[in-house]
Amino acid sequence: MTDSLDALTSLLAGGRVVVLSGAGLSTESGIPDYRGPSGVARRHTPMTFQAFTGDALARRRYWARSHLGWRLIARATPNDGHRAVARLQHAGLVDAVITQNVDGLHGAAGSAPVVELHGRLDEVTCLDCGNLTSREEVDRRLREANPDFVAQVDAVNPDGDVDLPDEQVAGFRPVDCGICQTGMLKPDVVFFGETVPPQRVARCFDLVERARALVVLGSSLTVMSGRRFVIRAAKNGIPVAIVNQGPTRGDGYATVCVDAPLGVVLPVLAERVAAGASV
Ligand SMILES: [Zn+2]
Repeated sequence: MTDSLDALTSLLAGGRVVVLSGAGLSTESGIPDYRGPSGVARRHTPMTFQAFTGDALARRRYWARSHLGWRLIARATPNDGHRAVARLQHAGLVDAVITQNVDGLHGAAGSAPVVELHGRLDEVTCLDCGNLTSREEVDRRLREANPDFVAQVDAVNPDGDVDLPDEQVAGFRPVDCGICQTGMLKPDVVFFGETVPPQRVARCFDLVERARALVVLGSSLTVMSGRRFVIRAAKNGIPVAIVNQGPTRGDGYATVCVDAPLGVVLPVLAERVAAGASV
């Protein structure tokens, strides 16, 4: 691992790096990964866009669970990994962060610019009129509509969803859009079965193509939504480094792979790079 850490350090020290981050970066903030080591115990599959829009019961179930899950996500704070990325960005070595995470923790750590590939959980969109509302406001309305709704949860999934028995879902009342009154509300995140807005994808491809190196942090690259950037970089001869616990579907494209916890590796890296930069 020492060799690969050295290789990763020199890659970062050269600057003009684009970071692609995934759920593995937020596990140390208490948000479990779907597919990583902590994702094994997951009991239900994520909500699809088709089920959400086509099935009122599925939608009620989603909002009941998400109403509870949001509290846990809203309480999460950036970890050493997020802070190290922000530090590398402030040092001028990382040009941009593309994240698959919807928890807003890169921004909370001080990173900018950040492209949130799959959207943000703290914003809610109306599928009819397109109005964007803060999650805080929707949360307030959901509390008003469900004054007696109480349920205990202690674990949340990366999309802000929690496991909740059906009998607790039954009495939950979702709310409609506060502007057009009838529109269906959906957290402004890309669900499974939904596509990422094309201009957002184009911006990410542009960032990757201008980069000197692409560094993947905490993603198993299972879905094409993130993997396509790794494939594009490799195709253009841009070196790819991957730091993740466990193998990923992008390992074949990478010049460097580091299998280790991000909260441990990233602060060490940031320290080494900063030390090198100040010499
Ligand atoms: Zn509306």
